[in-house]
Amino acid sequence: MKLEYHERGIYCPEISLWLDSTDPCAATWISHAHSDHARGCHGLAIGTSITLQLYRMRLWMGEGESEPELRQLDYGESIEWNGARLTALPAGHIIGAAQLLIEYRGERLIYTGDIKARPPLCGEVAQPSECDHLIIESTFGLPIYNLLSRDDAAERIVRFARQCLDEGSIPAFIGYALGRGQEIVHVLCQAGVRTAVHGAIARFLPVYEENGYAFPGWEPYDARTMAGKALVVVPTHGSALEASGKNVRLAYVSGWAAMDNARARTGAEELIPYSDHADFVELMELVEASGAKQVDVVHGYTVPFAHILQSRGRHATAPRHAGARSNVEDAEG
Ligand SMILES: [Zn+2]
Repeated sequence: MKLEYHERGIYCPEISLWLDSTDPCAATWISHAHSDHARGCHGLAIGTSITLQLYRMRLWMGEGESEPELRQLDYGESIEWNGARLTALPAGHIIGAAQLLIEYRGERLIYTGDIKARPPLCGEVAQPSECDHLIIESTFGLPIYNLLSRDDAAERIVRFARQCLDEGSIPAFIGYALGRGQEIVHVLCQAGVRTAVHGAIARFLPVYEENGYAFPGWEPYDARTMAGKALVVVPTHGSALEASGKNVRLAYVSGWAAMDNARARTGAEELIPYSDHADFVELMELVEASGAKQVDVVHGYTVPFAHILQSRGRHATAPRHAGARSNVEDAEG
């Protein structure tokens, strides 16, 4: 199947469908609701019901914009689309995230979007599937990225929170507005830790609750009453807390925490290398499980990861433009 790689996304001309177009277009698949994948007001947006709900909440301005047509395609469901059959498969990553299987003229193509192979803290476990042609991300596509399992990450998060609270300091976790933030809040609340949540993260908690995740006892973050609680904040708020003069100890929960420079970049003393993206070993497992004859590597360490796959006998390429978001360490990871 023909594919065109553009800075704004991937286009499938034979079936007139974009994959994660970040500019307005006639019709796009939206793999998940992070803003580097779900952006712009499209004529038609296809995605899982959770992704479409988050997309509207987060990115669609409403006033003055025409209402996009939304078409739900939930896990395991298929639709016919311009002579192709589209099927959504779980991708791990954040809630609602899906891979798209496109079957066209006897060929199976899978676009993973952002993917995590091992079970995530929150979200459906990814479903690897066989295909002829795989388009896979490579945010952490170098062997140096060896990240924690969800159980080990949860254990580290709770241990650090309790340690700080026991000694009278305030643990503050830097997460992301959508995904990591809610995962950290979930871990802390489930462990019975009193948790205050920054508004940018709290606004999405109801979507998680509707989908079966409970956050018993969470409270809105208030700078005047931080003592005795764990805080969960977005990265931009971490430095403000550091400068607040309060007895705050910062922890950074991210795949980027695998790098020593994360300490200098974030001011965090506790680095917990966990991500909703696959680490290197998981990426290799996903490629193996697909059995794909052709692998296109997009986003992240595209060129080195494609070289590694080639050295192991795979036909792999790193298409030009496919790394538009490449290795920006403030990308959600
Ligand atoms: Zn993402």
